[in-house]
Amino acid sequence: MSGGHGLFDRWRGRPAAAVAAPQASVPAAVGLQLWLDDKGRVLRLGGPLRSALALPAQSAARVQDYVQAHSLLVLEGEPADWQAQPLDLDFRTANGSTLHTRGWLLAQGEDWLLQLFDVGDLLQQRQQGQDARRQQQLARQVGAALRDCSLERLPRVAAEQLQRLAWHWRMGWAALLLRTPGGWQTFARDASSVPWADDARLSAVLDRLPSGRVLCSAEFPALQVLCPTHALYVVGHAQQHQAQAWLLCADEGGQARPEAAPLLLDAMAEPLLARLAGDRLQASQQRLDNVQGLLGAGWWEWSLHEPYLHLAPGLAASFGVSAQLALPAWWALLHPADREAAQLAFEALQREGCSLQLCVRLQAASLRWYRICGDVHGQGQQRRLQGFMLDISDIKAQEQQARAAHARLDNLIASSPAVIYIQRYDAGALQAEFFSASLQPLLGWTPAADLQPAHWVHPDDQALWLQRTRDLLREGQVRSRYRLRDAQGIYHWVLDEARLLRDDLGLPVEAVGIWLDVTEATLAAERVRESEERYRVLVEDSPAMICRYRPDLTVLFGNRPLADYLECRPDQLPGSDLGQWMSPAQREAFSQRLAGLTPQQPVSSAEICLELPGREHAWWVWSDRGLFDEQGRLLEVQAVGRDNTALRRSQQQLLQSAKMATLGEMATGLAHEINQPLNVMRMAVVNALKRLENGDVQVEYLQDKLRRIDAQVLRASKVVDHMRVFGRRSEVEQQLFEPWQAVEGAVSLLADGLAGKGVALNLGPALSGCPVRGHADQLEQVLINLVVNARDALLGRREADPQLRPWIAVEAEPVADGVRLQVRDNAGGIDPRLLERIFEPFFTTKPSGVGTGLGLSVSGGIIEGMGGLLSAHNGAEGACFVIELPVQSIS
Ligand code: ADP
Repeated sequence: MSGGHGLFDRWRGRPAAAVAAPQASVPAAVGLQLWLDDKGRVLRLGGPLRSALALPAQSAARVQDYVQAHSLLVLEGEPADWQAQPLDLDFRTANGSTLHTRGWLLAQGEDWLLQLFDVGDLLQQRQQGQDARRQQQLARQVGAALRDCSLERLPRVAAEQLQRLAWHWRMGWAALLLRTPGGWQTFARDASSVPWADDARLSAVLDRLPSGRVLCSAEFPALQVLCPTHALYVVGHAQQHQAQAWLLCADEGGQARPEAAPLLLDAMAEPLLARLAGDRLQASQQRLDNVQGLLGAGWWEWSLHEPYLHLAPGLAASFGVSAQLALPAWWALLHPADREAAQLAFEALQREGCSLQLCVRLQAASLRWYRICGDVHGQGQQRRLQGFMLDISDIKAQEQQARAAHARLDNLIASSPAVIYIQRYDAGALQAEFFSASLQPLLGWTPAADLQPAHWVHPDDQALWLQRTRDLLREGQVRSRYRLRDAQGIYHWVLDEARLLRDDLGLPVEAVGIWLDVTEATLAAERVRESEERYRVLVEDSPAMICRYRPDLTVLFGNRPLADYLECRPDQLPGSDLGQWMSPAQREAFSQRLAGLTPQQPVSSAEICLELPGREHAWWVWSDRGLFDEQGRLLEVQAVGRDNTALRRSQQQLLQSAKMATLGEMATGLAHEINQPLNVMRMAVVNALKRLENGDVQVEYLQDKLRRIDAQVLRASKVVDHMRVFGRRSEVEQQLFEPWQAVEGAVSLLADGLAGKGVALNLGPALSGCPVRGHADQLEQVLINLVVNARDALLGRREADPQLRPWIAVEAEPVADGVRLQVRDNAGGIDPRLLERIFEPFFTTKPSGVGTGLGLSVSGGIIEGMGGLLSAHNGAEGACFVIELPVQSIS
């Protein structure tokens, strides 16, 4: 260039005359003028543009040496060939740019004048026009591509178009970012990767940039952070003065031409944003429709000059009506009960323009509740009612249920003997605030907030009331019982259950409580207490012994008579052992009897014998009633006892007297029994004395006599001994003994007497190993009775029939679980009509003074006392008395 510069300088330094002076016909020096010879060599330069040219280094350069390579085509041949046509030539300029010219070749004598004008501006304009058209076309194509593709392909198509733009701008890569609620997000980019790590960092940079023009990282250092290696071009697309999209592209080759970027970004962003917004709108519309469908909600509109009401399609479909609903059809849709109210409300809405709020039932497929809201909009012809309808059937149903439940609860409270009240906490005091309606039926007061329950409290219970309030505030809950006066002045016992409610900070807010009328229960409890007291007095004062004891005979309670018998105080009885006053055998029998009590047979009576302090024996008739648990276990026994000792004594006396009577009966026999040994002894003594007087005494003889005397003394003493035993009272307690023992005892007393009267006594074989429980002497007495009765009957019979050979048979035999004794005779038996009566006391067929009529009745009693049975029947030859006794095991 420096060489070129030197040449140029030389040109410029050359005097104009040396180049050849312009001729008269020569046009004015405009543009660029090159004088050429016929070979095209430049003779001279002229015109203002000449100074811009880069001059060839060689001298006598041809015009071809001035132009750029592509203009050489125009300059083929020689100047003569170039004339008569416009010539477009591009010259090299000294500063390296191109000088676009157009001109003509004019003949100038032998030379040629190439007159050229600078058409650079024209060309540039044309180029720009072409560029603009191309850009617009590109923009149209990009826009069309984005508009026409499906929504799913939109990001992909956007990426393709972006790639196309990047290529168009000769950019390394390009990315499109869109505004989202969460900040800027890369929506599309061409295949190559973008240099930033995350969109968030990008957002922070982009939010500070102006939109609408191409910004370069060279200009904005902040952008260099995003792409430090290359020049980054950024352009924003704004809508309503707010950037909505950013296009970022990097110039990796240094040939970037992003001048038209704003236009193309607009072409791209407009349809893209529109489609995305449309998509969002559609989605939200869809959501809205879905939600409305789910809620049974939708809009409605009524242009007042039209006879139609417009309904949201979903709503109309759910009613089964057209979305454009004629007014009469609309009114018909309303339930008749709500129609009038709805019409009035609509009229008021038209007239006054106030807003509409209405709950109505609509008769569609089913009857449903709707809330209708609406407002007036617009003026004149545009005036219309617009609103919203919402299915509130569920709410209404719940409302109705709640109302019904509330009503039921109210009824329940009103009809129950309970009052619910609320007392508000105010600076440490509780002020009545609410009473349920049941206050009226319960206490006769009309519920009102200013009622003060303290005034109704019974004077005696006021301390309780105050304590209740203190406890409630301190403990948070309280339960108390006091009397409240009703409107008539009558006091009611109420059970008060109250609880203190606190706020989040734990401070008292109010007390909620319930009064339960427990007058009846309280009075009933009082009555029970009184009745208990009466029964207690009854039990205490009863002449009978009453007690409760456990199965182990530990006394739980005993009344005064029992305590008196046991010679202690009633309060000393609980814990004492009832068995301590019984003999071991009695106690054993007593416990066995208790063991026999069952829930089915809880009662048992017996005569028990006790050894009381200071008394020999007491006989009590004792009745027990067992109390059982659910498993049938005996828990406790309640007993009532009566002292039977006196009766028992008199019975024993009766027995004794009967015994004495029997004894009297036997007196004759006894006299005989004793007389006989006495006679024998006397005879022996007389005979021995005679021999002694005669001196004819032999020791053997005397010994024989003395032995006989001894034997007779023994016999007599035996009789006397037995009589003594017989005369004694029976032992208190029964003992085990062999019944045959009694047979032998009776026989030993009576045998001789019977033999003397010619009555045969036939004894059966002796029986052993069958012990019975009782008193041997009593059984002996019974047997004597029976034998004596038989004897009497036999003697009476023999008087009528002297041929009779009287006999009495006494036999014993074991039977199942017992032993049977029989006393039979051949006296002809007992008159069957009398058989029933012979056991009655004082029944006798014997002459007065002879029979007592007590023998059989006492005997029957004795046998029963031993747990047995005495019976009589007539046998083949005479009466047969049978004694059946249970056998006891010896253990
Ligand atoms: P008592 O012997 O004092 O009359 P009992 O009670 O012993 O009283 O007898 C009642 C009656 O039963 C007798 O009076 C008699 O008539 C009748 N009796 C008792 N035993 C016999 C018997 N073995 N044969 C006939 N009658 C008898």
